[in-house]
Amino acid sequence: MSQIQAVLCKKCKRLLDCRKSTEHNIKWCKCGAVGVDVEEVGGKVYYCRLLGNSEDYEESDDYHKLVDKLAWRGWYNLYEEYTTKLKAAGAIDIYVKQKYGFMRIEYNYSDKCNNADRAEINRLANEAEDKSLGICNECGSEEDVSQVGIWIETLCKQCIEKMENDDE
Ligand SMILES: [Zn+2]
Ligand SMILES: [Zn+2]
Repeated sequence: MSQIQAVLCKKCKRLLDCRKSTEHNIKWCKCGAVGVDVEEVGGKVYYCRLLGNSEDYEESDDYHKLVDKLAWRGWYNLYEEYTTKLKAAGAIDIYVKQKYGFMRIEYNYSDKCNNADRAEINRLANEAEDKSLGICNECGSEEDVSQVGIWIETLCKQCIEKMENDDE
């Protein structure tokens, strides 16, 4: 029986966490395209049955893999673009996280990389990190973006306002 830890909705770029599911409730992502149904076997929760079109979601038995992939959903396209480029250039073990408001990329070089390849990989990673500072990590907007908050996030004006309203 397959153990799915997380499901990523490709439509709204949201992650459904299936690791701590203890109820029989169907969980839907915000846009409603993808749902996860929890099944209990012998008193243990094992299996998440998926609802929705298979092209709308990606499932994984490794929660962190999808978290990394999503690492701040506004950067999703940037992430996809640069991990593809980095892999093509010879980078391996690519790991992405958010740090001080920018998308930080960690990686190793494959054995095949020569010095020029390494330089190109470094250049690409720096380019992606620089670009992330101009893209809202919440919605992907490139307008009125700034670094804010204690846990420094890169957000656009609209998302900052939305968050302030949610707090009230
Ligand atoms: Zn969705
Ligand atoms: Zn935004």
